[in-house]
Amino acid sequence: MRGLREQCLKAMGIPLWMPRAKSAGEARADVGAAPQEKIASEARSYQERRSYEEGRAYVGAMDWQGLAAAVRGCTRCALHKTRTQTVFGVGRKDAALLIIGEAPGAEEDRQGEPFVGPAGQLLNTMLRAIGLKREEVYIANILKCRPPNNRDPQPEEAVTCTPYLERQIALIRPRAILALGRIAGQWLLQSELPLGRLRGRVLQYGEARVPLVVTYHPAYLLRSPLAKAKSWQDLCLIREVIEIKQ
Ligand code: URA
Repeated sequence: MRGLREQCLKAMGIPLWMPRAKSAGEARADVGAAPQEKIASEARSYQERRSYEEGRAYVGAMDWQGLAAAVRGCTRCALHKTRTQTVFGVGRKDAALLIIGEAPGAEEDRQGEPFVGPAGQLLNTMLRAIGLKREEVYIANILKCRPPNNRDPQPEEAVTCTPYLERQIALIRPRAILALGRIAGQWLLQSELPLGRLRGRVLQYGEARVPLVVTYHPAYLLRSPLAKAKSWQDLCLIREVIEIKQ
């Protein structure tokens, strides 16, 4: 394990003498295919529930299959016109750790799976550095469709898409959430604080007060390798939260 961790840290470009993160005290398979008629009917029912609260209540009662079908057929915002396919999420449905990014990029839109491009490769390395395999966590995004030209999600898109994520969180019941990047962190916490003030501590998500740590987005880390040291501290923190809750 130690050897593996050292290799991962080296791959992340982090020197081995980095101080450990603050302790948590200080600061749970992919979805099966649904038949086409089911996809169409789940999606249609959600489209018909026009208000946010109505739609949220409808999605809030779905099982995994219904939810996947509703996402696959969703046309609730304009992003459905430009997507190749939806990107639902991937991983263990009982994962202890849920990782939430911003929105699919070009490669994710092509493959239908989150974090499969270069940022995804770094994310896999970051996970290995804390002793986790990609298959052991669940990975999702705030938005299930790619915004054109990788622009930031618009608030109304996030509002429309959030019931899907909320239902994923309720079904997974993770011990902790790791939010990747400012946009995911601010949206989940409904905060306007900059990432520098959100990261480095254990916050809480939603009524269930799920422990949540925000860290840098791996795409940012690819451009700014010096931030990897701080990201490593955040990863240690989330690892500690998961271990404490075991
Ligand atoms: N960036 C994200 O935020 N999510 C992805 O799935 C890929 C890149």
